[in-house]
Amino acid sequence: MVEASKKEKLEEVAEEVRSCTCCRLCEERENPVVGGGSLDSPLVLVGEAPGRREDEQGKPFVGSAGKLLDQILKKVGIQRDEIFITNVVKCRPPGNRRPRAQEVEACSRHMAAILGIVAPKVIAPMGNSSTGYFMKRFGLRRSNISDVHGRPFPVETDWGSVVLFPLYHPAAVLYNRGLEAELLVDFQRLKGFVYGTSSN
Ligand code: SF4
Repeated sequence: MVEASKKEKLEEVAEEVRSCTCCRLCEERENPVVGGGSLDSPLVLVGEAPGRREDEQGKPFVGSAGKLLDQILKKVGIQRDEIFITNVVKCRPPGNRRPRAQEVEACSRHMAAILGIVAPKVIAPMGNSSTGYFMKRFGLRRSNISDVHGRPFPVETDWGSVVLFPLYHPAAVLYNRGLEAELLVDFQRLKGFVYGTSSN
């Protein structure tokens, strides 16, 4: 039997997400956002949740935070279409509120399925919600993003050893421009782990 390609597997996940009613975020979504980018990427960036623009277009990071992310990726020399970007929850929380713990938990099977398909060597959660989810998932002590951003955490996954590398969420920089320089430095360091020029 021929194994389904990564693209086919992601389409199966997308189909499940489109019909998913596992949490109340399904009630007001226009378009769930599974994620996008290269399925062979060594890096998966994971934000918090789709916002209004993402919900309209069904694509990740296409609003103002996405524009800032694009600028930072360009500055550090990472091509957006060579990485994969998603969020811990796939449907937009009403009013862009933070997703609740039970919503993140309900969506975790989709997150696990996507990560299993891409099988990256680096997972970079952006912001407190995403970082908290992954710290818990990998049995690490849950910490505030301001304490752990820019630090590599070696973790074991079904597809091998992976570096968990928390980052500030680009939206946080929109509210506090003082974080931009730190986020840029973190992304430069992240690039070293993704492309093999840094060690733990
Ligand atoms: S956020 Fe996730 S778990 Fe909740 S309805 Fe959407 S796809 Fe399902």
